Amino acid sequence: MAVLETTNLTKTFGKFTALNGVNIEVNQGEVYGFIGPNGAGKSTTIRILLGALKATKGEAAIFGLDAWKNAVEIHKRIAYVPGDVNLWPNLTGGEVIDLFMKLRGAANKNKREEMIERFNLDPTKKCRTYSKGNRQKVALAAAFASGADLYILDEPTSGLDPLMERVFQDCVAGVKAEGKSVLLSSHILSEVEKLCDRVGIIRQGEIIETGSLKELRHLTRTNLIVETREPVISLNELKGVHNLKQNGAELSLQVDSERLSEVIQYVSGFGVTRLESAPPALEDLFMRHYDTSAKSSDTGDGGGM
Ligand code: ADP
Ligand code: MG
Repeated sequence: MAVLETTNLTKTFGKFTALNGVNIEVNQGEVYGFIGPNGAGKSTTIRILLGALKATKGEAAIFGLDAWKNAVEIHKRIAYVPGDVNLWPNLTGGEVIDLFMKLRGAANKNKREEMIERFNLDPTKKCRTYSKGNRQKVALAAAFASGADLYILDEPTSGLDPLMERVFQDCVAGVKAEGKSVLLSSHILSEVEKLCDRVGIIRQGEIIETGSLKELRHLTRTNLIVETREPVISLNELKGVHNLKQNGAELSLQVDSERLSEVIQYVSGFGVTRLESAPPALEDLFMRHYDTSAKSSDTGDGGGM
């Protein structure tokens, strides 16, 4: 049985259809990446799952229970962190963590201390004095200290610095190792790539791709800029190379993430003097998705030049 499941989930706001038949499924011990651009419907789906919003049609279930009817029961076993955390201004960070833990019946003092330390928090400060990033950290520390069975995280790392992003990733890996489940919504593909077993891509209220990262690997490409001492020969014949362009001494190309190692090895044979790489952007992925489904002739082999 899935820990979390939506079936044909549909939500309209007046005439506007925010969700149109969304199916997602998170199994036990799985980190599920729920990705899509702003306005795609991630938070709406999550609010329905939290029982904060009623679906127009379709079903949302957590632990096999209806998300709307059994919200109270469900909330005892889940932790939720939104992207813009609001905390009680007059409580300290530590008090907020205690409160969240108590709400979930968690009493693990060690876990509490561990999280405060890992997220580098001063628990004695009043919440009104926390920056946005620090409010996120308090909420994440509270969530990961709570020992929930399911973590519902809605763009939880907005405002975190790279160091804390790393702490967050370790925490997700930690709960996964304990067999817990995570629904992680994000518009940052690289974050999702690091953490998730499976992903669902939502756009304009519809799931347009779903599967394991391996299955979606063909969708992710890394952007490279290369300069070499010798001219690179036959690069466009290499598998996984796309959009190869030459601007003077500079080569720019996109490489299927799964072929990156081979391509770099090949290029290095020509004496690399400059190498820049940029991770695949979610936007690129979407653009290409529509491109390829329109043409349906992209075989994934080299192109350009
Ligand atoms: P995401 O979280 O993926 O950025 P949302 O789920 O917040 O997207 O929003 C999906 C769409 O639904 C957006 O176009 C948003 O404007 C719309 N929407 C969300 N909540 C409401 C609401 N209460 N009333 C009207 N439209 C809404
Ligand atoms: Mg959102």
